Amino acid sequence: MMTVAGSRVTVPRFREDCLAFRGIDVRELVGVRKDALLYVQPCTSERGKLMADIELTKDIDSRFFDPGKLCALLRVHRHRFADLRCSEALGVAKLRWGGRDISIFKNGKIKIQQAMDREEILRVANSVSRLIWGAAVCSVCGEPVLNCVSGKCGKCLRPEEEPLELSEITGAELLRQGHAALEGLEGLPSQDYENRLQRARFLALHFTMETPRKEEALLGLLLLARAEQLESKLKEEK
Ligand SMILES: [Zn+2]
Ligand SMILES: [Zn+2]
Repeated sequence: MMTVAGSRVTVPRFREDCLAFRGIDVRELVGVRKDALLYVQPCTSERGKLMADIELTKDIDSRFFDPGKLCALLRVHRHRFADLRCSEALGVAKLRWGGRDISIFKNGKIKIQQAMDREEILRVANSVSRLIWGAAVCSVCGEPVLNCVSGKCGKCLRPEEEPLELSEITGAELLRQGHAALEGLEGLPSQDYENRLQRARFLALHFTMETPRKEEALLGLLLLARAEQLESKLKEEK
């Protein structure tokens, strides 16, 4: 598990074929496979704006996202969205964020409408896919990445750990505040600890969305996994 001591964090390592290690980076994906950005064309609804489909996987019949986890992760950031609807049964999420309409499908397709330009499409797609990365199904264990990160899947985590300097990580303050929110939860009334858990989850995902390097984005998912573990422990004690 990830630990923070002063200016350093110790992070676990993962198998190299695990999606927790490989990460999600839309720019990189589009660089390697141009047709991952399926089309950019004028919106039918609004003149001068663009719409695009981004396919996070070539295998469009696949179950790329776990629908339950997908909805849960989006709900953590729900107050940033003008509108959020997510159906676990259909495996589809629709949300409105910063004037853009975004649809996410469990097969790994993300549709963005009403964007200004290609650059904006890539930026939004990258942030959104980082937000829901934890719900993506890892091909090593067949479980959502969040279960790889927490070690729950039992297959992806390696025994080694490595230290990282927090000061070298963009957005590390979000991580520090997130870890602080998880301190001393035992003994708090349930409303208070639930607020603190929600704050930690929000900060964790905010960091994962904003930090540029995908290797470091993993630190947000590790914090999220820590919040989940603490929550189940606290619920057991009640
Ligand atoms: Zn994995
Ligand atoms: Zn796994």
